[in-house]
Amino acid sequence: MRADAFKTRLDGYGIDGMLVTKKENRMYLSGFTGSAGALIITKGGYALVTDFRYTEQAGQQAGGFNVITHKAGEFYKCVMEEARKLGVTRLGFEAQELTVEQFTSYEAVAGGISLVATKGAVEKLRAVKDDEELDKIRKACRLTDKLFEHVLGTIRPGMSEKQLAVEMDIWMIRNGMSTSFDTIIASGKRGALPHGAASDKIMQKGELVTLDFGGYLDYYTSDMTRTVCLGKADAKQKEIYDIVLDSQLAGIKAAKAGLKGKEVDSIARGMIESKGYGQYFGHGLGHGVGLEVHEEPRFSVMDENTIEPGMVISVEPGIYIPGWGGVRIEDLVVITEADAEVLYESPKHLIEL
Ligand code: ZN
Ligand code: ZN
Repeated sequence: MRADAFKTRLDGYGIDGMLVTKKENRMYLSGFTGSAGALIITKGGYALVTDFRYTEQAGQQAGGFNVITHKAGEFYKCVMEEARKLGVTRLGFEAQELTVEQFTSYEAVAGGISLVATKGAVEKLRAVKDDEELDKIRKACRLTDKLFEHVLGTIRPGMSEKQLAVEMDIWMIRNGMSTSFDTIIASGKRGALPHGAASDKIMQKGELVTLDFGGYLDYYTSDMTRTVCLGKADAKQKEIYDIVLDSQLAGIKAAKAGLKGKEVDSIARGMIESKGYGQYFGHGLGHGVGLEVHEEPRFSVMDENTIEPGMVISVEPGIYIPGWGGVRIEDLVVITEADAEVLYESPKHLIEL
């Protein structure tokens, strides 16, 4: 079980217990999918403190955890009491998750227990996916391929970006997914906005349209970007598209276990730089995807972390030219022992509709 894998890491953080309250981390370690509760992970045992609404659900989902229902208004006190019962003296907490108010509330009832800030402790474990997770991500990706097929049959000049986004959102819901971020649809000059959420702009013939979308299926999300042309592409559109595609393919080829995130980034980035468009690619090459749409690891200019088999990460270079538009192509890949396997089957040549 995942909590067993996590407890072996406690010493590395100088703690003898870990308080886990971030929803995705809580779910990952315990299986509990409710919206409220705290895990306490120690070498000697695991506790899940939640409220009346979730007592039964927690009991069913969180095997191996001692489920405790706290009294109304006594959440913090109850958590610290359980930590004390488990013999904790130094309790780690998620520094990026707790608000100042929550921290002071725990501290007020901590007794002799020291609270120790930790960063990304569970997230590091989550970066490498197990077979069950990979299976879920593959299913989400397969459905996302189908969504893109639906987009190709739906998108047309005269439609607004928002109309198309709504159409995509409805498709996801009908097919058992839920959107994991605001669908990005950036047509024509708006393509220069890397995160241009769908607007009221009408899509015109001759424009490139960048679509970036993803949905949760069974708690795991997909994330895909394609850029298509409404009508025949002109020479400049083809030139930029081909450069981004070459960079994306180079990134996938470079994504091998043992390399650092920044090394993979630099290989894909180098392709764009060599064509003179380096200044128009201002974001990292990729990010991990799983229970969250942006998680560990990263392919970025500064990333020193080593890529490992089982990591699922996006490869998504782009060129964004103000006043002209942009192109981005994004796949998710899973790192294997030998190379990287692309999780989508959607075509990547320039589609002219
Ligand atoms: Zn994306
Ligand atoms: Zn992405």
